[in-house]
Amino acid sequence: METADVVIIGSGIVGSSVAYHLAQAGCTNVLVIEREAHQGKGSTGKSMGGVRAQFSTPVNIQMSRYSIDFFSKFDEIVGHPADYRAHGYLFCATTEKHLAYLKANQQRQNSLGVTNVEWISPEEIAKMVPQLRMDDILGGTFCPTDGFVDPHSVMMGFMLNARERGARLWLDTQVTGIEVDAGSADVPSALGGPNAVSKQSADGTSAFPALNARRISGVQTSRGFISTRIVVNAAGPWAAQVARMAGAELPVEPLRRQLVPTEPFDQLPKRFPMVIDMSTGFHFRREGKGILLAWNDPEETPGFKTEFDSSFVEKILTHAASRVPVLAEAEVNPRRAWAGLYEMTPDHHAIIGPSPNVQGLYFVNGFSGHGVMHSPASGRITAGLILQGHSDLIDATLLSVERFKAGTLLEETAVL
Ligand SMILES: Cc1cc2nc3c(=O)[nH]c(=O)nc-3n(C[C@H](O)[C@H](O)[C@H](O)COP(=O)(O)OP(=O)(O)OC[C@H]3O[C@@H](n4cnc5c(N)ncnc54)[C@H](O)[C@@H]3O)c2cc1C
Repeated sequence: METADVVIIGSGIVGSSVAYHLAQAGCTNVLVIEREAHQGKGSTGKSMGGVRAQFSTPVNIQMSRYSIDFFSKFDEIVGHPADYRAHGYLFCATTEKHLAYLKANQQRQNSLGVTNVEWISPEEIAKMVPQLRMDDILGGTFCPTDGFVDPHSVMMGFMLNARERGARLWLDTQVTGIEVDAGSADVPSALGGPNAVSKQSADGTSAFPALNARRISGVQTSRGFISTRIVVNAAGPWAAQVARMAGAELPVEPLRRQLVPTEPFDQLPKRFPMVIDMSTGFHFRREGKGILLAWNDPEETPGFKTEFDSSFVEKILTHAASRVPVLAEAEVNPRRAWAGLYEMTPDHHAIIGPSPNVQGLYFVNGFSGHGVMHSPASGRITAGLILQGHSDLIDATLLSVERFKAGTLLEETAVL
């Protein structure tokens, strides 16, 4: 029978980062299972590749700070390219409320060690991107180390490195079930050392489910049964379905997100930051010779919708031309536009940590549009929880799924 110390379900950027961080810490009997024939066919391959530290909550700022630093050294650490481009993110405020919000965020970011978020005047904004309509822009913030990565390259880098250390990847293999035993106080150590099921946190309280909880015994796949005591749910937008296989509930919903690239367009600078128009949420950046346009349609409803809706082109071009009048002249081929799925949680924060009801089941889900930029931190946090019972990066209990029951939601408002 096939066995693994840890089975990771999903080989997107998050599952790949977990595999890398486990392998890097010496846990190499890891099996990643992916139902598609290639990696990156879920949300990772649809992403805009944006990375930023300009968030509003401490936990998101801390995760970004670690991750962006990691991306800046990715090639050296992981041995593969991340294509990190520090072109910055520029938030443009059009109301006093926006200004107060950005000021409060900047102070919080600064207090958490992100000290390079600059306050930018309307004149400076106009210098950065002279094509913006400036009549209602009151100012903004700019962080020069925000920018972009190549999500596919990061995902491949994490996985190739993990495989070089011994982790295995099974493509074309669907997980169809998760086997769970009745609980017992006699829990063997899956990893042959201190592990998730026996570890207590520093304050003496267990960060893990009670020992009589139901516990993982293996996963059923289209290639047969795999015996394991630890399963990591890294199934992106499909995370709730996977959790249900183990009888666990996970508040993660898929939400369509559409991106529109223009044809080559030379009326904007060759290099400029991601620009966010806070009056509408419209944002854009350069992508090769063209411009990549993004906007979060408030009329979108949850569901597994991945087809691009051509009526979206007119909606987004209206916002684009309103803020950047020259974009009215940009050509768009709707066949090159695409749609993908955000994995939304009720408070727009990831869910990371052990299931309270099923011993050995770990969640690393619900990134609400930030899974690429937070992939280094989430891999490290998850590996820490599995191997040491705690994370040395953040207070991981904040991201526990139990917050929804306890009513200790975090609420991130800087969602794009
Ligand atoms: C249009 C768009 C733009 C985005 N822009 C950004 C951005 O600028 N910055 C940012 O940080 N994030 C962005 N995101 C979000 C980001 O892409 C996701 O948060 C991230 O890719 C999630 O990675 P993942 O590995 O968890 O999920 P995925 O990449 O979806 O991987 C999950 C994998 O699990 C596999 N799987 C599912 N169920 C099973 C099963 N039963 N058996 C086997 N395999 C299974 C799937 O096939 C899939 O490959 C964007 C998303 C979209 C859609």
